[in-house]
Amino acid sequence: MLRVSLSDASTKIVATIGPACDTVERLSELITSGADIFRINSAHGDREQHEAALANIRAASEATDSHVGVLLDLSGPKLRLGQLVTDPFYCEYGSHVSFIRGDETTVANQFTSSYKRLVDELAIGDRVMLADGTVSLVVEQVSADAAVCRVTSAGEIRSRQGINLPGVKLSVSAMRPDDVDNAIWGAKNGIDFISLSFVRTAEDIHSLKNLLISYESQALVVAKIEKPEALEQLEQIVDAADAVMVARGDLGVEIDVAETPVAQKRIIRVCREKMKPVIVATQMLDSMHHSRRPTRAEASDVANAILDGADACMLSGETAIGDYPIDAVATMNRIMVHTEQQLLVEDIHRSGTTNRVHPITSAVTDAATAIAEEITAKLIVIATHSGGTAWVKSKSRSRIPTVGASDNLAALRRMSLMWGIKPLYVPRFEDPERLFAQISRWGQEHGFLASGDRVVFVTGSGVMQKAHNVLVVHTVD
Ligand code: PGA
Ligand code: MN
Repeated sequence: MLRVSLSDASTKIVATIGPACDTVERLSELITSGADIFRINSAHGDREQHEAALANIRAASEATDSHVGVLLDLSGPKLRLGQLVTDPFYCEYGSHVSFIRGDETTVANQFTSSYKRLVDELAIGDRVMLADGTVSLVVEQVSADAAVCRVTSAGEIRSRQGINLPGVKLSVSAMRPDDVDNAIWGAKNGIDFISLSFVRTAEDIHSLKNLLISYESQALVVAKIEKPEALEQLEQIVDAADAVMVARGDLGVEIDVAETPVAQKRIIRVCREKMKPVIVATQMLDSMHHSRRPTRAEASDVANAILDGADACMLSGETAIGDYPIDAVATMNRIMVHTEQQLLVEDIHRSGTTNRVHPITSAVTDAATAIAEEITAKLIVIATHSGGTAWVKSKSRSRIPTVGASDNLAALRRMSLMWGIKPLYVPRFEDPERLFAQISRWGQEHGFLASGDRVVFVTGSGVMQKAHNVLVVHTVD
């Protein structure tokens, strides 16, 4: 069967793939250090590179005998600078630069962008932020062919960096042709999670979901919250999405950076109420791009995300292009393990906050968690075909190690985003006794179950015919 380390963090780690880690060997090391999901960022690299990345992730999963999830990140309506004439270009305080129509420029302070209608939609007084908000401009003049801006905060910019327009409502569509193309590729290649950047409305999520459904994809859709519009429509977006990302990189430019900590807490709270998994992203261990150790503030950031109730934390450049990708994952895992010891079992008797799970499933799973706590069980085993029952258990935040046992590989990979659930492949069982026997043997072989240990089994729908939601306490012989 598989390697399940019960000493891994319960909070999941999403690691962005990039040149610093994209070999099978490196990816395998990241998995054994604690990575649960790999993010392929469609904004970087071409189809060939994405295919190679996916093949290497699959090979690394196989090599480590684990069920890692794959997240494909779609750029959505992210605006980018075109090719600069002088790259990098320094925007001098008080000087003028302009956005021009078309794809080409021959003048250093004239910029093109990936959005054709940008010149039409900018108005005098609009703020334009470049280089992750370090450079800011204000639009002073607009003509038929150019929008002239004054530099109000100086700094260096590079080709193809993002452009943020805080407070400007653009008519750009939620998915560009490239996004549709990438989503179809993801659907056809069994990608587990597809995230959409710069979501503004629930409708944006529905259109991506409809596209995926038309390709018979079961991919879960992750809404990236990084626009003020998304905060205004947060409840509806969370309802529409399967999971959510607090995308602090762009969010911290689109709204005042001072408002992002409170926004993070609100997004996590809404996701918990609606029982949707939530990932906290960007700059979590930023200094580890070039350092083996994180700052104290970064360690606190990871810990606080967990205490807020995040299901997963993400690493971006730290693993994709950093000097210490393995150390970054291992450090994040270590902070998580320590922090989780402080988590208390929450109110596991939720009052029907969700209509996504059957009330019997929810009641039986909560009861199993309560029983496991009371008898200090060594392990909870949730047998589930779709993974849904494991998700209910995940939300209780009980620290009793929990195995999500399934015969469905896609469901096992979805567990990569479920807090505290270790995915385990089991063949389809007709007889619950055989499942108990197999788990007992497996636990003893791996040294975390001994004679006399108690194991609580919940057999969710599907794995065993006619045995939905049965709860059994088993003592290892
Ligand atoms: P990105 O998204 O890395 O794709 O921009 C995350 C964020 O903005 O925080
Ligand atoms: Mn972003």
